[in-house]
Amino acid sequence: MAVPRARHSNAKKNSKRAHLAKQPLSVTVCLNCRNSVIPHHMCPSCGHYKGRSYHTEKEA
Ligand SMILES: [Zn+2]
Repeated sequence: MAVPRARHSNAKKNSKRAHLAKQPLSVTVCLNCRNSVIPHHMCPSCGHYKGRSYHTEKEA
């Protein structure tokens, strides 16, 4: 297994982590009720996803 030759300085470590900041959660709008929705998730208020309602299918 490869072993690092020498330890990285704090500047090396910190500059490497400069691009690892946490991004804000991306939010889209529900096409059915215009509520804010996480992408690729069912709408929490009306249950719509990709033009289908999954709330009514559960109840029926
Ligand atoms: Zn909705």
